[in-house]
Amino acid sequence: MTPLHQAQAPALQRAPAQTHRGPHPDAHPDAHPEAPAQPHEPLRQHAHHHPQIQPQTHPHQNDLLASLPAADYEPLAALLEPVVLRLGDTVYAPGQQLSHVVFPISAVVSLHHVMASGSTAETAGVGHEGVVGVALFMGGGATPSSAVVHTSGWGYRLPRGVLMQQFDRGGALQRVLLRYTQALMTQIAQTAVCYRHHSIEQQLSGWLMAAQDRMALGELVMTQELLASLLGVRRESITQAAGKLQQQGHISYRRGHITVLNPQALRATACECYGVVKAELRRLAPVG
Ligand SMILES: [Zn+2]
Repeated sequence: MTPLHQAQAPALQRAPAQTHRGPHPDAHPDAHPEAPAQPHEPLRQHAHHHPQIQPQTHPHQNDLLASLPAADYEPLAALLEPVVLRLGDTVYAPGQQLSHVVFPISAVVSLHHVMASGSTAETAGVGHEGVVGVALFMGGGATPSSAVVHTSGWGYRLPRGVLMQQFDRGGALQRVLLRYTQALMTQIAQTAVCYRHHSIEQQLSGWLMAAQDRMALGELVMTQELLASLLGVRRESITQAAGKLQQQGHISYRRGHITVLNPQALRATACECYGVVKAELRRLAPVG
């Protein structure tokens, strides 16, 4: 398992949107973004290992896009481009000027810090409830952190120009993005406090609950190394905490596949941080 901070940063791959079933249909530049995306061969192989990848997506599977009134969504629709987000892909690197924002559908992206020592930790996760790249519309254009895919899947990206044009109109898109950003700030702040004051078992339980909320299917593909790099702890600590959760029957953990067996018990084990972040996200949920 390659640690996240060593992951190379391949360009995000366009999701091929044609229905060609030949051996190697490349991404079609003229494909309509709203056409159902059909995976090509390499992706199909990939999907075998990552069952959460859905071959058919629509931008409205992202909560923020779904909340926009038709008049605000229409100018974006033709320019939303489906992308495959693979485990370890870098959506943006530290200091990189963002050219797009990404609205995840089935993928989950980790906002991620790498220290000078090489130690890493996640400060927030972003799935279908949010958008990756708030630095773009907040005005900074870049951040010292990176955004790395930790659950493979799909998303839609939108170029800076059209996003800013609609954002600057001050309509529903701006309101939705700013409210989400406030929820994201809560998640980042809560994560900082959580790392400081709560046990790894509590953190892991909360992290798994949040991951489950973002997933279409119940099974999470996740190695202990990756979990350790996300929570910023040693792998042995994850082994110990996951072992305890498994022993209690809260989760099953086999060969990097985690299934939540008892969400109520897992939630009871988690610290309050999971609930605080979730409640704030719900309070600030897009209203259009
Ligand atoms: Zn906590």
